[in-house]
Amino acid sequence: MKSHQILIAGQWTAAESGECIEVENPGRKTIIGEVPRAAKADVDKAVAAAAAAFTQWKRVPPRERGRLLLDIATKLDDNLDQMAITIAEETGNAIRTQARPEAKAAADIFRFFAGLGGELKGEVIPLNDDMLSYSRREPIGVVGAIIPWNAPVLLAALKIAPALCAGNTMVLKAAEDAPLGVLLLAQACHDVLPSGVLNVLTGYGAECGAAIAEHPGIRKLSFTGSTAVGKSIMRAASDRIVPVSLELGGKSPSIVFPDANEDWVVDGVISAMRFTRQSQSCTAGSRLFVHKDIFDDFIEKLATKAAALNMGDPLDEQTDMGAIINRKQFEKVCGYVEQGLALPDATLVTGGMPATEGPLSEGYFARPTVFAGTGNDWRLAREEIFGPVLVAIPWSDENEVLQMANDSHYGLAAFVWSRDIGQAMRTAHEVESGWVQINQGIGQIPGQSYGGVKQSGLGREYSLESMLSSFTQTKSVTVNLNIPSPDR
Ligand code: ADP
Repeated sequence: MKSHQILIAGQWTAAESGECIEVENPGRKTIIGEVPRAAKADVDKAVAAAAAAFTQWKRVPPRERGRLLLDIATKLDDNLDQMAITIAEETGNAIRTQARPEAKAAADIFRFFAGLGGELKGEVIPLNDDMLSYSRREPIGVVGAIIPWNAPVLLAALKIAPALCAGNTMVLKAAEDAPLGVLLLAQACHDVLPSGVLNVLTGYGAECGAAIAEHPGIRKLSFTGSTAVGKSIMRAASDRIVPVSLELGGKSPSIVFPDANEDWVVDGVISAMRFTRQSQSCTAGSRLFVHKDIFDDFIEKLATKAAALNMGDPLDEQTDMGAIINRKQFEKVCGYVEQGLALPDATLVTGGMPATEGPLSEGYFARPTVFAGTGNDWRLAREEIFGPVLVAIPWSDENEVLQMANDSHYGLAAFVWSRDIGQAMRTAHEVESGWVQINQGIGQIPGQSYGGVKQSGLGREYSLESMLSSFTQTKSVTVNLNIPSPDR
């Protein structure tokens, strides 16, 4: 078992306490490494290093900072295989469908933001002819970033690249369940960046994450994770009036119109549900609303395709769908399946409780499960399961389906399926969510602004606009052009 170290002030080091956290491969239930259990003392050191590095880093010309991010992207590309294997091992996400695409996407995110250094532009404001008023986009300072385990390397890249491009420095905490890929990413950054610009810690949320959220030296908090923890981050930020970006949970609707009873839509719904990431995705289209005229036929096709997903060892290239991240999440998902099975009105269309013997009992493998006939007000339809349990609800009237779709405290993503593009767009405009896809269920692409409304979050990621709004602050400078001539 390999012991890993954290990155503080350009040095690889153990936690002050000397303690470690074991990392498990959820596909095999074996321990594959250990990482430092960083806590407040380590956060103090990391914030001091980031604050010291900030004075120089903010002065590096933006396009030069971008060039360094490009070097990181190249290093990530050169090391893609090792990264993909590491992600698959620690997250349980299948290497072909998830881990390798994630490794590639992380490099792509660095490449995208690397090109945006020249866009950190201000404006000139026409106050009057005797006055020059202009604005500057300045970096904020030390950013505290906290990320979850479901797409760890991609989400780390999404914090690091825009924040550093904009001239900030960072203390980033990886999730305790999936820190190894993030440490590999930290290595690529360490090879390129000046010491202290990026500091990467591993540790538990309650001790390391909370210490970041509460640290007086941190000037901006960027968090991706559960809504419950997001609220605690916002509370901590409110004490010091620190700006926050929050990417939180979701319970996203997927709305199928009667003209969309087709195979490609079924494939799209499966993709939107992120079954091949065990649906451990905030954007998962986990509430499926199918028009009653096509309901039975569509659900039957869906059940057949979902059941045909090849579940197994995340490192096997044939595998479509891997394992749930850890025992706790696995038991939570099983609890929801049990609940569904116990509901008299719900029909199990495919899936159910996991295997108790054979190869699939050797990891945390939850079967793709679909319940039909559920109510939109049931716990299964309201709570974010973060596992492969889809609820399918019939609808007959457009207003009714919109009302059900919007009857959620979440508002992250939504999916609309129809050949009538006008109808689909009208629906998209009425859905309360930050991102609606029509006739596709793919992942985010750099360039689009992505983020939630309601309790799904605050702020946007993935775009130039997000870099400017999340990682810069505006300063106005007003110059009097009409000062009296000096007496001669
Ligand atoms: P998930 O349910 O996906 O694990 P969490 O919100 O619990 O989502 O975790 C996301 C990230 O937040 C992880 O890095 C975790 O360690 C961190 N975290 C958990 N609790 C806290 C907390 N109280 N303060 C700060 N960070 C936390």
